Amino acid sequence: MPKVVLFDADGVVVRPRQKYFSEKYAQDYNIPLEQISPFFKTEYKKAATGQEDIKSLLPSYLKEWGWTKTVDEFLAYWFESEKDLDTQLLRVVANLREKGVKCYLVSDNEKYRGQYLMQTVGLADKFDGAFFSYQLGVTKSNSGFFSQILENLSVEPQDTIYWDDDPKNVASATTLGISAFVYDDFGEFIRKLDELFPKEMQGFMAFDTEDFYCDMVFSGKVQVKKVRETDELLAFYHTRPSWTHHIVVVPKKHVKTLTEVQDMGLVKRIFELIKEIILEYGWANTNFKIINNGGSFQDSKHLHFHLLSGEKIR
Ligand SMILES: [Zn+2]
Repeated sequence: MPKVVLFDADGVVVRPRQKYFSEKYAQDYNIPLEQISPFFKTEYKKAATGQEDIKSLLPSYLKEWGWTKTVDEFLAYWFESEKDLDTQLLRVVANLREKGVKCYLVSDNEKYRGQYLMQTVGLADKFDGAFFSYQLGVTKSNSGFFSQILENLSVEPQDTIYWDDDPKNVASATTLGISAFVYDDFGEFIRKLDELFPKEMQGFMAFDTEDFYCDMVFSGKVQVKKVRETDELLAFYHTRPSWTHHIVVVPKKHVKTLTEVQDMGLVKRIFELIKEIILEYGWANTNFKIINNGGSFQDSKHLHFHLLSGEKIR
């Protein structure tokens, strides 16, 4: 069974961009593309392989490109335009990790965007780690990129799988014996996983849902350890706890998110149940917190409250 899965960032984990940033900038700032693209074809590569700091390379170009604000503001504007995550794929990553398969991000990127993806976008929490070209000194088209990863993780190429949307990078990993595939679409990716992993893992991976509770918990596909149950509500232990005590409370009837709740009595009843659990477990005297997420913070699009106590474990 494969031990390690490597995921390309841009185009796989981060949804494919509509256009290159250079094209976007050219359009937004009404500048000919020919004036911008040379930087990305030459100078940018030095930053991507860690030879130069992009903040020292950019100033002279930015002047030429009509950017009047700071270098940091330029990077913020750039990074902001390329951070749309594929939540469906990330759910599969979470499933793989839960089954003990290590998942790593591998990416050609310079330092600041690498850090942005990991910390600001939050990918550090979703993977076991990341390998960036700025750290390894070579980009993915050089097989040295992958040999360093294999060495670092002490894993054999035949136990390693890799997805990238660029055939050139896939070819480079293949030369080392890694099972590498071009990422085209989610369905194809799932079918390939089904081939590569033993049967008992397949069902759990082959779902494409934005609603874990309706599609996985209430459908019975995933078994959960129940804490409390009423006609209306279910409280159960989180399947991947991030606190020593991590309980999720959900209404059985589908409601997408807090702002779509019609009957606020539902929220009152959820909190009454949460209060009972807190009192029963004695957390009123130790510690507890309740979290509800919305918008891009909400991974599963079905109203749910996290009840946490103890210590953060990951
Ligand atoms: Zn639902």
